[in-house]
Amino acid sequence: MRIAFIGLGNMGGGMAANLANAGHEVRAFDLSEEALARAVEAGCTRAASAAEAVTGAEAVVTMLPAGKHVAGVYEGDVYPNAGPGTLLLDCSTIDVATARSNIEAATAKGLVAVDAPVSGGIAAANAGTLTFMVGGTEEGFARAEPILAKMGKAVIHAGDAGAGQAAKICNNMLLGASMIATCETLALAQKLGLNPQKFFDIASVSSGQCWSLTSYAPLPGVGPTTPADNDYKGGFAAALMLKDLRLAMEAAASVDADVPMGSRARDLYEAFVESDKEGRDFSAIIKTLQG
Ligand code: NAD
Repeated sequence: MRIAFIGLGNMGGGMAANLANAGHEVRAFDLSEEALARAVEAGCTRAASAAEAVTGAEAVVTMLPAGKHVAGVYEGDVYPNAGPGTLLLDCSTIDVATARSNIEAATAKGLVAVDAPVSGGIAAANAGTLTFMVGGTEEGFARAEPILAKMGKAVIHAGDAGAGQAAKICNNMLLGASMIATCETLALAQKLGLNPQKFFDIASVSSGQCWSLTSYAPLPGVGPTTPADNDYKGGFAAALMLKDLRLAMEAAASVDADVPMGSRARDLYEAFVESDKEGRDFSAIIKTLQG
């Protein structure tokens, strides 16, 4: 299959390489020459522009920073150059409203579009083990699924247009709030004189168990190997968590939802990202709670 891939950064680079390794003809484009060169080295074909990548492609995958980039590429390069019935898969994390309006505009132009954001970071993108949550029609999902399956371990149809983005930000709002709760709990346990590994052993098999504790323990030497054991380098940058929490707050306001924990998590990550000059993993927020 001939697939255009636009946005070959930290995530898109590995994803495009996995599509090429699966035998697809991947026509890659990125504004960054460095990112494009890496993709070509990984087996993709260089396109001189997004428009060139899209021309003659059966599917177009985008992995871009935010809604305005996706809308810009769709309007400027995809709509004028995509043939009838071309499948558009936007895997970026963007706001629900833009995802819905992109899909509406694409459908009006005779294209088939889905939002398909991912869970999993750079390592999962490289390894082809992402989880995709997909919003769109049954037809869109049926066509998108085999392509996404080459880049991930799970592909789930979340619902209609925008449902993928809604699922993504709801999941990450829960993750952000649970990480802070895990961090403050571990800090309190230490102050109360508990051995943190002992507390981990107890809470991991008790009702306090959660992913942020058992799979992503934010203290070095406690639980499995996590970014905490690597000085909080790698993993999921706190700035990206903040981006997702802001998107969640925007979406919550649009439907008048009461999200007190999500809102507090957004405030705490805002303060942390502003003060952290090293761009550390989101679990490093424990540093602000150990004082
Ligand atoms: P990134 O900044 O590394 O990559 C984005 C790429 O898009 C860059 O290479 C940039 O040059 C390119 N780009 C921007 N505008 C463009 C345009 N108009 N045309 C062509 N290329 C353009 O970002 P990333 O970490 O790869 O994240 C991509 C998306 O995935 C984001 O929406 C992010 O929120 C989401 N995401 C990231 C992670 C992660 O761990 N990094 C995890 C899950 C989801």
